[in-house]
Amino acid sequence: MADIFCDIENLKGVGKAKGEKYRKLGISTPYDLLYHIPRDYLDFRAHVPIMQAELNSSSVLKLTVLHKNPPQRIRGGLVICNASATDGIDTIVISIYNNVYAYHALKEGETYYMYGKITGNFLRREISSPVYIKDGEKVLIQPIYRLTQGLSANVVRSNMQQALEILRSSPFETLPQHILSEYKLPPLIWSLENIHFPESDSAAGIARNRIAFEELLKLQLGMLMLKLRRRRSTPFTMDKNTDMSDFFGALPFELTDGQSAAVREIISDMCSHFPMNRLLQGDVGSGKTAVAAAACCFAVKNGFQAAVMAPTEILAAQHFKTFMQFLEPLGIKVCLLTGSVTPKQRADIRNRLESGEINVIVGTHAIIQKDVKYRSLALVITDEQHRFGVAQRAALAEKSESPHKLIMSATPIPRTLALNLFGDLDVSSIRQLPKGRSPVKTYAVTGKKREGAFGFLRKHLDEGRQAYIVCPMIEDSESDLFAVTTYAENAAKTTLKGYSTALLHGKMKSAEKEEVMGKFSRGEIQALICTTVVEVGVDVPNAAVMIIENAERFGLSQLHQLRGRVGRGKFESSCILITDHLTEDCIRRMKIMSSTTDGFKIAEEDLKMRGPGDFFGSAQHGLPPLKIAGAADVMNLSDKARRCAEELLADDPELNRPEHHALKMDTLRFFNKEVTG
Ligand code: ADP
Ligand code: MG
Repeated sequence: MADIFCDIENLKGVGKAKGEKYRKLGISTPYDLLYHIPRDYLDFRAHVPIMQAELNSSSVLKLTVLHKNPPQRIRGGLVICNASATDGIDTIVISIYNNVYAYHALKEGETYYMYGKITGNFLRREISSPVYIKDGEKVLIQPIYRLTQGLSANVVRSNMQQALEILRSSPFETLPQHILSEYKLPPLIWSLENIHFPESDSAAGIARNRIAFEELLKLQLGMLMLKLRRRRSTPFTMDKNTDMSDFFGALPFELTDGQSAAVREIISDMCSHFPMNRLLQGDVGSGKTAVAAAACCFAVKNGFQAAVMAPTEILAAQHFKTFMQFLEPLGIKVCLLTGSVTPKQRADIRNRLESGEINVIVGTHAIIQKDVKYRSLALVITDEQHRFGVAQRAALAEKSESPHKLIMSATPIPRTLALNLFGDLDVSSIRQLPKGRSPVKTYAVTGKKREGAFGFLRKHLDEGRQAYIVCPMIEDSESDLFAVTTYAENAAKTTLKGYSTALLHGKMKSAEKEEVMGKFSRGEIQALICTTVVEVGVDVPNAAVMIIENAERFGLSQLHQLRGRVGRGKFESSCILITDHLTEDCIRRMKIMSSTTDGFKIAEEDLKMRGPGDFFGSAQHGLPPLKIAGAADVMNLSDKARRCAEELLADDPELNRPEHHALKMDTLRFFNKEVTG
């Protein structure tokens, strides 16, 4: 018999073509198939008499087939099959379109449970293309799966039965017995059987609970294992008495309390014998860069190198400028390395990194390429970490033996989620903005008010301020969304005639982008018409107005990030959200945006509206997506899963005991082996 990890094509009835369809759903083995959890169930027990079934909606009927008419071929090769049937009181017509196979399987005189749309009038009822099972079949609750064209519900169900059969023939359990008893969980086989073909409603619930728990447990195990590995000592222990007074003396401002606390925590981490692994979260504009610079300065004063990695070239260039400002006067050598430097410059930078002449390198992922070597890289900072995956995080860490790591994020995360997303990290939060900032005033309007919005924007340009206008698309498409290219052309001729404008989007060459950004930050451009390229970290304190077109296209956290581009200087700033999309959901988002600028609050609302499932499903955070655990599970089971993972690892830190083998393999599979490092 086939093995549970064999190619899905080994299942009966699955050939190359269906195998391809399965892979499309992310399923390449019977094992994967077992974790393709039903999105719902069809309960054939809930059948009603024909006359009680609501018209034009779907119901379950219990029908005995009376007479089958021969299939009829009609125009276009369509085949219609009709049969009459009864529930013992009334009769009904079963009509099946284009599925002779399903029709032939029905036998006159036999009784079936049928689920389908009921149509007709008082005299004649019809049930069309029903899903059915024979009376007497054990399984009256049928799973409904996420399907793809070419894979029918019946095929998936039958393959699922086969996969379960394989599992039964070579029993397999991921959780060790002591965990099953301690947490009162049913065995894996029972759970998989009952999540697909439940004996009862409560069995489905118990099964689901076990499988969701197991998924969250794997997530916690993966992260804790990462954390424990990092507990190996680091050669980069620093001296807590390092004098930083020249750094603080040269800063153009005084650190806020939040910034100071973060600096203290970071320094204390770097002075320990274990590598730092810290998340620095703070709203846009909260001043994370100064904290990062302090950390770099501290490392360099201790004789080490530091690397700062940003997700885009624009942001890397800007960080470079800031770091130069803070660090160069202290005699610290800072360099920029991105994908767009010439091979010659690159070779030069590489040499100077290896010799240790460069103290701080700022760049994009170019700084983690294989050929880049460091002399003594002790501190690695990644900015806006949600853009990087776990794999990239790991790659940067490998550049050096257990360096200290600081991850900066401008997406504040509520506690339950932080535990799941960043369970491997310690956290510093900067909750207040520097003094003297007034919160960005936010207005949501419909397209009718566009004229007025531009009047407002021009008034600010006339006063010497600058502005952003954000559109969701780059080029015109079928949709009626604003495209930044045509928008910029039109605006230059109409609403912004006489003002200096420029276009910025992600498809432009990086040299072009940098030129535009350079001009904008020097004030040579008044209004920047752009896509979300500006989202990340761009800092132009003179920019005081932002207009966001098709605001409905952006999620709460993204809107918050975008809005953070204004209000970064001493000028009162505004953000105008324009949308004609008056759905309940959109209106709610606009209301939240206009009523608060607190990133932690917005993150919570975002979470409530989207649900953690959605949050985890998105590729943003670079963790394995949760396929089973939903919003409620994350809220309810995360703490328990965390505790269980801690217990397991306290006893067996690398899960090397035989009884933990399956769980370890499963955890690695879950993380796509990213944790192995
Ligand atoms: P973010 O946390 O979004 O990365 P930045 O580090 O870019 O924020 O800081 C935003 C702006 O605030 C910058 O112009 C920076 O110079 C300024 N800034 C940072 N800290 C302070 C402070 N303590 N007092 C006044 N201005 C500050
Ligand atoms: Mg920043």
